[in-house]
Amino acid sequence: IMSERTLAIIKPDAVGQHLVGAIIQCYEKAELIPIGMKLMRLTKAQAEGFYYVHKHRPFYDSLCSFMSSGPIVVLALAGVNAIQRHRDLMGATDPAKAAEGTIRKAYGTDIEHNAVHGSDSPESAQFELGYFFSALEWPQR
Ligand code: ADP
Ligand code: MG
Repeated sequence: IMSERTLAIIKPDAVGQHLVGAIIQCYEKAELIPIGMKLMRLTKAQAEGFYYVHKHRPFYDSLCSFMSSGPIVVLALAGVNAIQRHRDLMGATDPAKAAEGTIRKAYGTDIEHNAVHGSDSPESAQFELGYFFSALEWPQR
């Protein structure tokens, strides 16, 4: 499979625990190379737009409040089979069920405050990258 791009978010729990550097190191060690990166704070409406696919889930309101509760770091990562390899590196949604060596096992707190987000398919990666990055922002590298 060719090199592809995926969207990662270091969530407010992890930024608040000063884990930005440690988590970016995990990406780089796994050859998921940052090609876009920004520190920002979402409004609740912006979080709702990002997570609209979960609109009917019971955790949607709480999730969007959490995601707008503090700064996040949004990254575009590039690499071979990046979407699936990034999901594997993140681990299961619930940190208690995440495998040893995964980011959520190491840094997640609970099923909501689980340190990181990652696109789960080519379709979601396209939507999510476009939600945060414009075509003009991609560096030539
Ligand atoms: P993932 O982030 O692993 O793709 P989902 O897409 O199912 O997981 O859920 C999006 C986010 O919503 C999760 O990362 C987590 O922060 C939160 N979440 C998921 N399930 C629950 C739940 N049962 N209770 C509270 N928050 C949840
Ligand atoms: Mg998901």
